[in-house]
Amino acid sequence: MTRTLTLRRPDDWHLHLRDGAMMHAVLPWTARHFARAIIMPNLVPPVVTPADAAAYRDRILAATPRGSGFRPLMTLYLTEETQPRDVRAAAEIGLIAAVKLYPAGATTNSASGVKDFSKVRRVLETMAQVGLPLCVHGEVTDAEVDIFDREAAFLDRVLDPIRRDLPELRVVLEHVTTTDGVAYVREGGDGIAGTITAHHLVLNRNHLLAGGIRPHYYCLPVAKRETHRRALVGAATSGEASFFLGTDSAPHTDAAKLQPCGCAGCFTAPNALSVLAEVFEAEGALDRLEAFASLNGPAFYRLEPNAETITLERAAPEDVPAQIDTEDGPVTVFDPGMALHWRVSGG
Ligand SMILES: [Zn+2]
Repeated sequence: MTRTLTLRRPDDWHLHLRDGAMMHAVLPWTARHFARAIIMPNLVPPVVTPADAAAYRDRILAATPRGSGFRPLMTLYLTEETQPRDVRAAAEIGLIAAVKLYPAGATTNSASGVKDFSKVRRVLETMAQVGLPLCVHGEVTDAEVDIFDREAAFLDRVLDPIRRDLPELRVVLEHVTTTDGVAYVREGGDGIAGTITAHHLVLNRNHLLAGGIRPHYYCLPVAKRETHRRALVGAATSGEASFFLGTDSAPHTDAAKLQPCGCAGCFTAPNALSVLAEVFEAEGALDRLEAFASLNGPAFYRLEPNAETITLERAAPEDVPAQIDTEDGPVTVFDPGMALHWRVSGG
């Protein structure tokens, strides 16, 4: 007997589409399941001005499969030179849905990120006034901080001071990976939310490092201990309004991943929903998947949930390709290391 689950069409509140040939190859995988996505601005060079965002949005729309209805929600990359008036204008015309903060050097293409937070205070103040969310890559980048402690250190040293200084600023702590991050979001009131990826619901650091290193499981923030993963599963499946899906699907070619110094990122767009359904089912929480994937995100971003629905079916294990081809070379699809029984009907 086939079991089915119908949800409002989900959105992805953290997505890397890249550009050019890579974008053309990966975008259809997101557009077939998701109605909207917050598009990360870490291109080379990054998306820093409203003109950059408009041009990137147009390239995305031109590459979107016809009839999919997919809508990119653009962001600006916060730099120490970002102009408050540009942010205000771009927010007021609906060109951008958020601004993204990368601490300098935190992840792929983040060299232009912020070193001195006092230099972005006026921008943050403007965002607080217009209600525009700040999406943060929540890791410090100081070489002396252990990579497994960088999220907790960011909360103490960077995010908490910003939020005390500007309590009205609305913040999305992206790709939460620790019990500390979960607790910080939970205790932070209405003005803060946390996104959680599909892969962080599945991976702990043993999957990455024990019995051989697995470059396709290397992402930032890096997967943590099992206790942290359990906290993420608890938060995602809780139904609490402050947690929602941001896949952080981040394609790199296999050539870039399988290097002595390989790139960080998991490409999960093709099977993120199947992975989520599996995780939620195991927790007895399938009835809360819609809140996590389709309702809590729009509510935080002050948008309507999508009117249309998708249906997931539980059947024989999902048939997702191990790799997709791009003109830049193959990209490996995230392998959760377990059978995926749920698939999107017709998708
Ligand atoms: Zn990301």
